[in-house]
Amino acid sequence: MMGGENSMKNENGFGGILVIAEQCGGEIHRVSYELLNKASGLKRRPDTALDCLLLGPAGLAAQELNFRGADTVYYIQGEEFEQQEELFYKENIVDFIREKKPETVLMGATAFGRSLAPRVAAALGTGLTADCTDLQLDEDGRLIQIRPAFSDNIFAHIRTAADPQMATVRYKEFREAKRDEKLPVKIEVRRPCRSADVLSQVVENIPLGDLDISEAEVIVAAGRGVRRKEDLEMLSELAQALGGQLGVSRALVDAGMAPSARQVGYSGNRVKPKVYIACGISGAPQHLAGMKESDMIVAVNTDPSAPIFRLADYGFVGDLYEIVPQMIAAWGKGGRQADRSGRPADDEGTADGERPVESAEGGLEQ
Ligand SMILES: Cc1cc2nc3c(=O)[nH]c(=O)nc-3n(C[C@H](O)[C@H](O)[C@H](O)COP(=O)(O)OP(=O)(O)OC[C@H]3O[C@@H](n4cnc5c(N)ncnc54)[C@H](O)[C@@H]3O)c2cc1C
Repeated sequence: MMGGENSMKNENGFGGILVIAEQCGGEIHRVSYELLNKASGLKRRPDTALDCLLLGPAGLAAQELNFRGADTVYYIQGEEFEQQEELFYKENIVDFIREKKPETVLMGATAFGRSLAPRVAAALGTGLTADCTDLQLDEDGRLIQIRPAFSDNIFAHIRTAADPQMATVRYKEFREAKRDEKLPVKIEVRRPCRSADVLSQVVENIPLGDLDISEAEVIVAAGRGVRRKEDLEMLSELAQALGGQLGVSRALVDAGMAPSARQVGYSGNRVKPKVYIACGISGAPQHLAGMKESDMIVAVNTDPSAPIFRLADYGFVGDLYEIVPQMIAAWGKGGRQADRSGRPADDEGTADGERPVESAEGGLEQ
């Protein structure tokens, strides 16, 4: 069992919280710090162990996990973990959990975490709640796993009867734990286990490149208002002018106009850019679920009653085929340069916080 002598065990002999940290390309994924922050609020008692399991090649900054609140970092070191190969990771994680018996196991709901977590849960014969947006404790100290359900219409509160209780948590749902270099560094390095069950081999890793929209600071997103695939070029041009990336609604993915890696929303990517420009997107709840936390939302839509305008900080009522070229002219090369917030340099914004709507014909409609 994890943690010190005093850590409390439940009746099945499980105790403490284990965050499975994710790493890729030599860097610890930031979702690990978010999980540590959330997990610190889930301790049954102040002395409940909060530990981290890190699997990766030698040389990772494992102490960062201590600085973010992990009591002990168990670092299974092996070059094999350079590739995100689920079966090999699974074998090692399952071995570790069987030995240490954490009561709660948390992983990031990243592409890799979503693929890995169900394999671990199935091998352990326990339940898993995927894509949680919140976690709480009930009166018995058991985990309440909260996630949207039925197309985001309700928040389901889920409890797991078995141990360990496993959940994946969406990236960018919680703040990162604060970094404190004064926190003690406690790292236990281990060797990986080998398993004959691992049958697959990673031949090549193809990076997502600009298809990875989850970290973009500016996203120009296209919806069904874009009529042809080739018209997406225009939106890509605006995205490039602002140093951002192209996103799409599911309507365009379903129509075969864009790859699912670019999809924003409930069943796509969750994004939190500084600026999100939604062009020809109505604002269905499933789309909003993926972008509503953006710092600034700009909407372009011919329909003034489109739900996206309820969320938008700036709205343009009009045809995107007229408005987007004007944005490129204003903010692109040779035009007025946008500052890092995406706002043109001489735009003061609204002082009273009202959400203005601009019509294509010009003039602000407050
Ligand atoms: C379980 C489930 C999961 C889902 N997951 C997702 C998801 O992850 N992401 C997602 O996006 N959707 C998702 N959906 C689908 C979602 O419900 C909507 O159908 C989808 O978001 C609609 O996409 P849209 O806004 O592009 O299209 P529409 O709703 O058809 O809206 C198009 C908009 O474009 C405007 N328009 C038309 N022409 C122009 C023009 N020339 N200029 C400007 N505006 C124009 C129209 O006024 C309209 O508001 C999911 C649905 C379900 C049931």
